[in-house]
Amino acid sequence: MQKSLMAIFAHPDDEQLVSGTFANYAASGVETTLVIATRGEEGEIAPGINATSETLGAVREEEMRCATTKLGIHHLHFLDYRDSGMVGTAANNYPRSLHCADLLGVSAKIAELIRLYKPQVIVTFDPTGVYSHPDHLRVHRAALTAFFLAGDANAFPEQLQNGLSPWTPLKLYYPVWRRVWVQLFVIFLRLIGQSVPEFLQTLLDNTPPNSAITTQLDVSAYVQIKREALLCHASQSGPDAPVHQTPTPVWDYVMRTETFVRAYSAVVSTRSERDLFAGI
Ligand SMILES: [Zn+2]
Repeated sequence: MQKSLMAIFAHPDDEQLVSGTFANYAASGVETTLVIATRGEEGEIAPGINATSETLGAVREEEMRCATTKLGIHHLHFLDYRDSGMVGTAANNYPRSLHCADLLGVSAKIAELIRLYKPQVIVTFDPTGVYSHPDHLRVHRAALTAFFLAGDANAFPEQLQNGLSPWTPLKLYYPVWRRVWVQLFVIFLRLIGQSVPEFLQTLLDNTPPNSAITTQLDVSAYVQIKREALLCHASQSGPDAPVHQTPTPVWDYVMRTETFVRAYSAVVSTRSERDLFAGI
């Protein structure tokens, strides 16, 4: 049986939560698929980047393709919604925004890709959306719905006339940071004289305790590839960004492990896993 892994996220660079995991599985023969709902059109543009608000989506699509190639991910799909921006901004109400999209319609698009690639394991945002970004929350809800409907022949039956068949994924994971790393990054920002952005404080508030972590993957062989993939997203964080000023040994130490909460499993699973496919 071909192993297949799918991640569903909102913006280019969200995949950095699991970049080592995807590089690792892709290199070991697992079919890997990345689904990104928007092109990140509303994010801030890093200094020195040749982009405008009109071209930013195209720039970020190229950056996403760069990171996908670095990580060896086999398939990249955009769902073609527009970035909804941070909560309370005008972009929330743009007709093409993910925020305004019909949730079941988003789920249908995701379910179609689940039926196409037949992933046993799916990774997406947790219910907090990591830092409560409106698009992250939408993706969480749509992906969760698709996870449970893709195997139901009565759901989105029009897709089954085109050669697709129902497919039931077996395991669902939420990538999470270790609280201590987020706390230390906040301290690091203060030490280098930077202010702590609001999203980072929200992330800290949303990060679950260590005891919630069920699964940790050793991706130490991929820390350099992770760094290169992150650098692809130059319009989001230039070389001067705090994340790139982290001393290399510290970066390597933190990035060598990726941690997950197992949200659902249809197979017998142990309390502490080191493989997303354990039990399959
Ligand atoms: Zn995002």
